[in-house]
Amino acid sequence: MGDALRLVEWRRRRRVARLLRKMDRLDPRPVGRGRSGARRRATTAVTLLALLVVGLFVSTLHDGPSSSATAFPDRPADARDEPRSVRAPAASPDTYAFVQTQDDSSEPVTYDPCVPIHLIVDDRTMVDGGMKLLEQAVDAVRDATGLMFTIDGLTDEPAPAEGTVTDDGGKSWLPVRVSWSDPAASDTLRGDVAGYAGSAPIPHDGRRWFVTGSVVLDGPQLADILQRPGGWASARSVVMHELGHLVGLDHVDAKGQLMQPEGSEDLTTWGEGDLAGLAALGQGECMSY
Ligand SMILES: [Zn+2]
Repeated sequence: MGDALRLVEWRRRRRVARLLRKMDRLDPRPVGRGRSGARRRATTAVTLLALLVVGLFVSTLHDGPSSSATAFPDRPADARDEPRSVRAPAASPDTYAFVQTQDDSSEPVTYDPCVPIHLIVDDRTMVDGGMKLLEQAVDAVRDATGLMFTIDGLTDEPAPAEGTVTDDGGKSWLPVRVSWSDPAASDTLRGDVAGYAGSAPIPHDGRRWFVTGSVVLDGPQLADILQRPGGWASARSVVMHELGHLVGLDHVDAKGQLMQPEGSEDLTTWGEGDLAGLAALGQGECMSY
């Protein structure tokens, strides 16, 4: 067990490293050059965002011999019968991208739109107003996707082992954990990375669904951002970007989109591509229980 876990952890780290390298390539801004060099430099420090994909690990666990139907949770009491439809703006297909698509189609892997996504918050380095920041970002994702979200409250329990997707006893999906962290606790947050997020898909009925995930935010860096003019909207856009990853949006190299790998102080709301992608992510199939 230990060896397998270490191996998968290593693969996951390699994947994160690869994504970070890819982001470096996508970064089009030679810092300090050009007429807006100083401003760009400031912006660069704001939000270089990383994406964490944990799917590989979880899929491996669930495809293994220990996978069994009895481990599947009960239908949540707060489930509804169909997704809430959201009007998607017309957008060019190269203005948004999905983190994962189904094996046999270009349909995105999504959360179940018929059950609420529960969030718990580890507030260790949370900024002043951090819960409000999170609530506003969640509202922005709820409006754009039609997905249901419930913020359950704070936790000071240690994070469960990686790859865990259900609560104790396997009765319900593990809530998404929003961790206010810092570079001392998370290597991924070193440098300009303000946050990272990802979700864990499981196979079920011939498709894959995200069932839980995590969002990690750099508390000290977001506190710095909040000190600047327009800091609230910038900080909120960082959280929105990470929640975008959580529900299945990938980075896209398209102007005006919040899902660009690098943020900008001027860009604090969803672009058309973001909205089109988010609308699609809220229209997945409901899961059978
Ligand atoms: Zn990102």
